[in-house]
Amino acid sequence: MQQFAIKKFLFILFFFTVAFFSCGQKVNEPKKTPPDWSKPYQPFRIVGNLYYVGTYDLASYLITTSQGNILINTGLASSTQQIKSNIEKLGFKFTDIKILLITHAHFDHVGAVAEIKKKTGAKLMVNAADAQVVSDGGQSDYEVGGKGATFNPVTADRLLKDGDTIRLGDAQLIMLHHPGHTKGSNSFVFNVKDQQKTFHVLIANMPTIITAKRFDDISSYPNIAKDYGYTFKTMKNIPFDIWVSSHASQFNLHEKYKFGDKYQPSVFIDQKGYEAALSDLKKQYDEKIRKEAYRTE
Ligand SMILES: [Zn+2]
Repeated sequence: MQQFAIKKFLFILFFFTVAFFSCGQKVNEPKKTPPDWSKPYQPFRIVGNLYYVGTYDLASYLITTSQGNILINTGLASSTQQIKSNIEKLGFKFTDIKILLITHAHFDHVGAVAEIKKKTGAKLMVNAADAQVVSDGGQSDYEVGGKGATFNPVTADRLLKDGDTIRLGDAQLIMLHHPGHTKGSNSFVFNVKDQQKTFHVLIANMPTIITAKRFDDISSYPNIAKDYGYTFKTMKNIPFDIWVSSHASQFNLHEKYKFGDKYQPSVFIDQKGYEAALSDLKKQYDEKIRKEAYRTE
């Protein structure tokens, strides 16, 4: 009898512990975000089977294949409906998303991952170096973290490392590890065919620096300066025909394309724009390194 009571007690304790950790977590997505992040935007075909399905500035990409579709980035928690309706406007099914990918684990790119994963049953694949942040809702992020979850925590189905291939139907994407902005920021490269030719596409996660702290003072990310250095070096040498990025503003989407424009992938061929954007960020990095190295106090 006593044993039964203990068992019952343990069962109830277990039940409440599970309930607490699964539902009890409060998500505090930062509220003061640029209006362009949540402003609706019309979806369009970038090239071949690659489509833009994000908000005005938070880029989400849909890659369609014969075996279902891949969605890269989901914007804010409130973006689910916009992404779903964008996918449907293009004539595809939301529930055909089989794989979810991200360019880095910040709330403005993964806010709706948990919900979209739940609604579609898609497999989430993330760079192993961002897996911890993804699973704690951003709490352990070196810059944005520390104040509770900023997005709904979610567990990845597959952890990726540099150079890994993601396959679905006839699509093959290679994940490139570009750390610094987060520990597991990454880009993707893949080929896209249309009736004219094959394009080598780069979805680049640009290495913007968001911390005002000295790199040396970031104890939860001791390799940050080295990681940024590596990323700038390796991103300079990626061959591509077309590039896009995590934010529309980073690759000047709205100058290259206006809604209603006819299909013209060549507007996204912009080697110079990529080099200029990268070199601008590299200058900011060099300047930060220079200042921090010479600081005497
Ligand atoms: Zn970010």
